[in-house]
Amino acid sequence: MSTEVRTDAGRLWSRLMDMAKVGATSGGGSNRQALSDDDQAGRDLFIEWVQQAGCSIELDGVGNLFARRSGTDPDAPPVVMGSHLDTQPTGGRFDGVYGVLGGLEVIEALNDASVSTRAPLEVAVWTNEEGSRFPVSMMGSAVWAGVSDLDSIRALTDRSGVTVGAELDRLGWSGTAAFGKPLSAYLELHIEQGPILEASGSSIGVVTGVQGIRWFEVTFEGFAAHAGTTPMDRRRDPARALADTLHGVYELAAADADRVRVTPAQFASEPASPNTVPSKVSFTVDMRHPDAAGLDRLEAALRSLVAEAADQHGCGHRIDVINDCAPVVFDPRCGGAVEAAARLCGFAFEHIGSGAGHDACHVAMRAPAGMIFIPCQDGLSHNEEESIEPDDAGRGADVLLHAALELAGVADDTANAGRTTEC
Ligand SMILES: [Zn+2]
Repeated sequence: MSTEVRTDAGRLWSRLMDMAKVGATSGGGSNRQALSDDDQAGRDLFIEWVQQAGCSIELDGVGNLFARRSGTDPDAPPVVMGSHLDTQPTGGRFDGVYGVLGGLEVIEALNDASVSTRAPLEVAVWTNEEGSRFPVSMMGSAVWAGVSDLDSIRALTDRSGVTVGAELDRLGWSGTAAFGKPLSAYLELHIEQGPILEASGSSIGVVTGVQGIRWFEVTFEGFAAHAGTTPMDRRRDPARALADTLHGVYELAAADADRVRVTPAQFASEPASPNTVPSKVSFTVDMRHPDAAGLDRLEAALRSLVAEAADQHGCGHRIDVINDCAPVVFDPRCGGAVEAAARLCGFAFEHIGSGAGHDACHVAMRAPAGMIFIPCQDGLSHNEEESIEPDDAGRGADVLLHAALELAGVADDTANAGRTTEC
């Protein structure tokens, strides 16, 4: 005999709406910037819910919060589900929040069905994923994974000079739980923040990885000259080198439109005068590719475009790498568990790469990790109008539930309750 275990989409939706009231904005979104009183109020609400669900709570030194439902094997590392509760200043109601409250819903569903797991289940709330108040995104998971060190993160300031450390201490978030503890697996449920699932009609994205990101600052040095008296062929004009480079950079993207993203931005010239040929032009280029070799090829192509353009127009040049995030490939076992859960539930799914960074990128450096996406309206995110369908929210939570059960294992005496024929 087998019993259905599934999440309660109505309960999940009403909690999403309750959380959205904390720091609600006039435009229908949420403003719970990291380590603010509203961020604290959001956590307090979450803590109330997880404690009612019988979970214990622990905090680490950068305020990452873990709510734990025990398993039957005390030696098994936990399967962790999570995301973030902080938002952009004019954030939506679902970015991050959905993954945290989806994890809570999984625990509630298992409580309702009296199913025990072999490995413990935890819901993680990572501190400052957004990086809008304190300018490091995915901050809490970076410290947890050992990518950033706690002392330098504590010294970061917001625009009014308040440090992360002062806020962690003020809010009582400087906990003692160990960073980087062993995990059986990590699953992050998230809205896609892009248009792919909505366009294809899939309910579930099995996320294969997160594309690599590399930022360059390019500088061309020419020679300042009078705009009216200097013949065109006697100029060393860095703006012309810029123009040739931009043309080539966009062609790189056009040649592989599915995988390559290029974004030239932050243009500056010196002297910034309308009637002087500039002596110097600088700009940034954000380049993205799902695999490391592809990102290296893009960099090599950019370097030769820049060198050629500088040579052509008699300019000097320089390229600095100012940010470099390696591509992440998620654990095939986690992806397999997500895919199997989507099949079990009968939901249309597809494999998808993430265009945005997530805490799962950092966690993946220390533990098997995977992500589940659901569609969001018009692919819109980091916007108060961010919107998802309640049914999609429920489907994503069901997939999280069954993937977590697969990875944590159902305890023998509750195996029948945990086994599901369909959902
Ligand atoms: Zn997010």
